[in-house]
Amino acid sequence: MITNWTITLRISRQKRGDNHTYWKDYTLTVNPDDSVLDAVENVWAVHDRSLSYRHACHHSTCGACGMRVNGVEKLTCITPIRSVTHDNGIIKVEPLRNFPLIADLVVDVAPFFQNLETMRVPSIVTNSQGNLAYEKTPAGTENLERLVDCIECGLCVSACPIASTDIDYVGPAVLAGLQQSLTASVDGIDSSLADHQEGAWRCHSAYECSAVCPSDVEPGFRIMDLRKQLLRASFRRWFGNKEKK
Ligand code: SF4
Repeated sequence: MITNWTITLRISRQKRGDNHTYWKDYTLTVNPDDSVLDAVENVWAVHDRSLSYRHACHHSTCGACGMRVNGVEKLTCITPIRSVTHDNGIIKVEPLRNFPLIADLVVDVAPFFQNLETMRVPSIVTNSQGNLAYEKTPAGTENLERLVDCIECGLCVSACPIASTDIDYVGPAVLAGLQQSLTASVDGIDSSLADHQEGAWRCHSAYECSAVCPSDVEPGFRIMDLRKQLLRASFRRWFGNKEKK
């Protein structure tokens, strides 16, 4: 039999349009095998309807419920309460970093998706049945493939120390998507899209992105491979594309 725990959920709050952030504590009785997202929903459903947070699928495929839990980026729908606290313990929940904050735990992911499109890594594509997942596919990206396994949760961007200090940095998920498209020789992909100071060369190899990625995309390692591909492309430009005899 599972014994319920009493925990404190300490949530970072900020009203829309307000710059004032503060912590608010909620005491909950929970099943420790439930997820952190379950606990957040409990707060919204029972204690405080003013709380804003993002969620959708609840089984780690949509990437909507990314938050920082005790200072670490987590997909909260697959993060059991017992993995981040103990009975009578505290869980601190904050929004992702390196995104504009909208309110409470909700960040604006539009710049992230715009970056994916700029790099010609489509965030919205036709599905395997040939139906459009959404009405509009970005122009010129109709035949490109989405980064396999990336659920576009943004955890890697939040964890990235470069994204924290440089808002122009393209970021790990986008660069990982470009690396995959280049490796697969997808038509229309141009390596020079990442060959600039805010692209693949801006990464400092911290690998925080790979550490928090819930889908084993390994963006840090993909960025290192992308650099190799960029160097190869440069050598080909400088010295011609001579085949080894
Ligand atoms: S690379 Fe990983 S952490 Fe980054 S957006 Fe994709 S799934 Fe999320």
